[in-house]
Amino acid sequence: MKVFIVSVVFAVALLSGFCTAGPAELSVTTILQEPFTITTGSDLEGYCMDLLAELAKKLGFKYKVHLVKDGKYGKQDKSGNWFGMIGELVRGEADLAVAPLTLTATREQSVEMSTPFMQTGISFILSRELGTEEGHSFSFLLPFSTAMWVGIIVAFLVTGLSIFLVSRISPSEWADPETDEHSFTLMHSFWYITGALTLQGAGPHPKGLSGRVVSAVWWMFAVVLLACYFSNFSAMLRSDNKHVSVQNFEELAKQDVIDYGTVEGGSTFNFFKNSNHPTYRRIYQHMERKKSCVASMEEGNRRALEGNYAFIGEAASLDAGRHCNLIRSPDLIAMRGYSIAAPLGFTMMKNITMAILQLSESGELAYLQEKWWANSCMPEGDRATEALQPHILRGLFLLLALGLGLGLLMALLELASKARSQAKDQKKSCCSVLSAELSQRFGSRGVNQSTDTPEKGKA
Ligand code: GLU
Repeated sequence: MKVFIVSVVFAVALLSGFCTAGPAELSVTTILQEPFTITTGSDLEGYCMDLLAELAKKLGFKYKVHLVKDGKYGKQDKSGNWFGMIGELVRGEADLAVAPLTLTATREQSVEMSTPFMQTGISFILSRELGTEEGHSFSFLLPFSTAMWVGIIVAFLVTGLSIFLVSRISPSEWADPETDEHSFTLMHSFWYITGALTLQGAGPHPKGLSGRVVSAVWWMFAVVLLACYFSNFSAMLRSDNKHVSVQNFEELAKQDVIDYGTVEGGSTFNFFKNSNHPTYRRIYQHMERKKSCVASMEEGNRRALEGNYAFIGEAASLDAGRHCNLIRSPDLIAMRGYSIAAPLGFTMMKNITMAILQLSESGELAYLQEKWWANSCMPEGDRATEALQPHILRGLFLLLALGLGLGLLMALLELASKARSQAKDQKKSCCSVLSAELSQRFGSRGVNQSTDTPEKGKA
């Protein structure tokens, strides 16, 4: 039904508007701007060409495309003359302008403009080297959050202490506190787990089963931790998680080191020219004083790439085909849209607006945007790699705690079983032998011996 109504409306339009206006084939003006309109040999293609083809199919018109002669979008001089695509429409040199042409109040006064087919806002791009802050001196700490580092230090201290306790309690590590030299001191214990943390296997190693259980759990903890650290670290190095040193228009306006400008006479330039906002006025005054505007989007991109230049423009255009060496500021101001324009009194404009809305509602415009923006370097914010938080490795910390507990329990059981057999031989109570053993191991003799150096211990 809808299609029928559109066809009838279009047929009426053809009879009333077209036939009287004359053109059997619409003359369409456009401008070269990646990926809206690009040249491939003698052909033109891009987002705007696909959109034009869709509109022609829907509304049943024929067209012929040419590039705007002066290479401008739509600029008005002091005496009211229009240049660029708008100028061609006003002078009757074209019937339609299909391009990234911004809908503005002044243009709407002089030509017919459709509903926008794309929404965007004003932002700026600048060279990656220029826009990134100096590297963090302690960037090697960034893969883990502060809470994670605290957790690792606590785990390290508790494990070192556990291995020491286990080796002191376990009779297979220290068989006879009366006569044996105790070879596994607190220093050995920490040296040993430090070695494991760097995958170096520093000795001496615990000999008892309980000590080996604790060691095995610590090794596992160290290996998984190192794997997480390195993967996060390399992701951070590769990621675009870098901050723009000039983050927004306010900062751009305040500094004098980086030059900046827009496309000369474009809608972005006019936005700054007509704005009463102090920051935007300052930006306009800078552009006027320094004559820092560029003739085209291409030149703007090139100057930004060369360095020390921030190119101000519309985000949709800045992102399209943006060189990955350029970064875009997250600041987005003055929302606006790209529209199709035609001379005043163009009877088909209502149909074009309806067709754009239909294409938008059916997802066709989103599909086209995906098609033509697929390879561009989009804003980085959402791809940033974050420091690893302890809750992600909760299971690993839990496993270590269980391993330490198990090792201690095993060491106590080993000692208890030794005390039991000794109690049988000496015909004493098991508890008195056990407490005597414990006091020997943790008494003055044990403490004195725990200060042994690794060299002495090894000897
Ligand atoms: N799209 C703009 C226009 O229609 C040109 C680019 C710009 O000013 O950023 O005037």
